Amino acid sequence: MNETSTDQRTAGEDSVARTYEVVIVGAGFAGLEAAKRLGRAGVDVLLLDQNNYHQFQPLLYQVATAQIALSTVARPLRSILHRERKHVTIRTARVVAINAAKKTVTTADGVRYRAEILVISSGAEPNFFDTPGAEEHAYPLYSVDDAARLSSALLGALERASANHDHSTNQNFTVAVVGAGPNGVETAGAIAENIRDVVGKYYSHSFASSCAVHLVDMVDTVLPPFSQTSQQYTRNRLEKLGVKVHLGSAVSEVSDTDISLADGTKIDAEIVVWAAGLKASQLLEPAGLTTGRGGRIDVAKDLTAPECQGVYVLGDAANIVDAKDRKLPQLGSVAKQSGRWAAENIRADLTGRPRREFKFVDMGYMAMIGRGQSVAELTPRRYQVQGMPAFLGWLAVHAGLLSGWQQRAAAVVSWARDYLTTSRPHAVIYRPEAYEIARYARTDDSSTV
Ligand SMILES: Cc1cc2nc3c(=O)[nH]c(=O)nc-3n(C[C@H](O)[C@H](O)[C@H](O)COP(=O)(O)OP(=O)(O)OC[C@H]3O[C@@H](n4cnc5c(N)ncnc54)[C@H](O)[C@@H]3O)c2cc1C
Repeated sequence: MNETSTDQRTAGEDSVARTYEVVIVGAGFAGLEAAKRLGRAGVDVLLLDQNNYHQFQPLLYQVATAQIALSTVARPLRSILHRERKHVTIRTARVVAINAAKKTVTTADGVRYRAEILVISSGAEPNFFDTPGAEEHAYPLYSVDDAARLSSALLGALERASANHDHSTNQNFTVAVVGAGPNGVETAGAIAENIRDVVGKYYSHSFASSCAVHLVDMVDTVLPPFSQTSQQYTRNRLEKLGVKVHLGSAVSEVSDTDISLADGTKIDAEIVVWAAGLKASQLLEPAGLTTGRGGRIDVAKDLTAPECQGVYVLGDAANIVDAKDRKLPQLGSVAKQSGRWAAENIRADLTGRPRREFKFVDMGYMAMIGRGQSVAELTPRRYQVQGMPAFLGWLAVHAGLLSGWQQRAAAVVSWARDYLTTSRPHAVIYRPEAYEIARYARTDDSSTV
């Protein structure tokens, strides 16, 4: 299906560098899956991403807490798609504008590409809900870069707090995690486990006992989509790990020293992790598509944007309702399956066959709390599993979902090491600037420098 591609290197307002059968914006779960399927079928694809790698978001919190290496969650796109390279062209470029009606995409370096069929799978970005100080002082956890920054900031804050502790200034290492969904629960649990098992071992037990983790959410439960039994189990386990859970009050302000809650509570926090919500990528609204809930595009059941012929919107960028009328959440499984389904529908478009409505296979969901402690609710019937079986299931599912056998092997080795020894060989400074800021911020005690 290559012959429709035309090279048109021309200048001027309406010029495009090249026309492709399919242009895909974003190589996350959705875009990558679509590119793979289309490339294998011989469709001429341009895949654009601002990074030269695919990132595996579900394990970012483990990078931030030094449980696994950064290279485990970021795999180069050219390595993933090397078998499809004849048909899939990869460009590392930030897309700055999309024109859905004309099916053109413009990158930051000024190059414009035209598609016969355009796929928008640019994901989401953190939503700070206009909370004063949040964007400035909190650390989001949405990308590899975020995870590297947070990891270095946590190490920097630990160094400073431990130096102050040695000088008996009583300054604690305190982290607040905002958002008690799966991402916030997993992050808070991992930091609390690090304090208990790793800080005690590598610094001192008296210092570890002066450290604290707070988990905050405006709703009155942890893990809102889960059953009450799983929620209760999760809260108990978090509290046993030492996490202080504050529910039912929204964060009203974030500063560099604390967070304020709407009920008047102030919590000291040197590091604030923002896991409170997402909004669709800012590329969507100016693209000329009508946005719905969360700034996402309400797509038709065949995953196309209703008002534009030949435009698909997938994964976190879309509000997807499947063939069974289920409103699907923003999950990796939904994104991946939507990418696969869209590839089939695109092939149908190119060969004059009718498109089919998206049939989502619901395997349920799971969340990790800590070593040997997870919750899972499986299949549409939501069979509940907790503790060690859910923990082993979580590890197996996430190892299986990772891209590449080297990444899978590295994750399994890290998890086995963590389970048996609680050592942290990945506690290295990826981002010196974040480490330095956290290390020296808020201190007027020159002895810590
Ligand atoms: C911390 C975290 C933990 C999660 N844990 C789980 C979990 O355990 N299980 C689960 O099922 N789901 C989980 N999710 C949700 C899941 O990761 C997402 O639903 C999924 O990644 C969405 O896939 P996507 O392809 O739509 O978008 P993404 O995976 O976000 O991919 C979007 C891609 O678009 C690129 N992009 C964005 N803007 C531009 C631009 N302007 N120019 C060029 N490229 C651009 C990005 O670089 C990225 O590669 C988690 C999400 C997060 C943030």
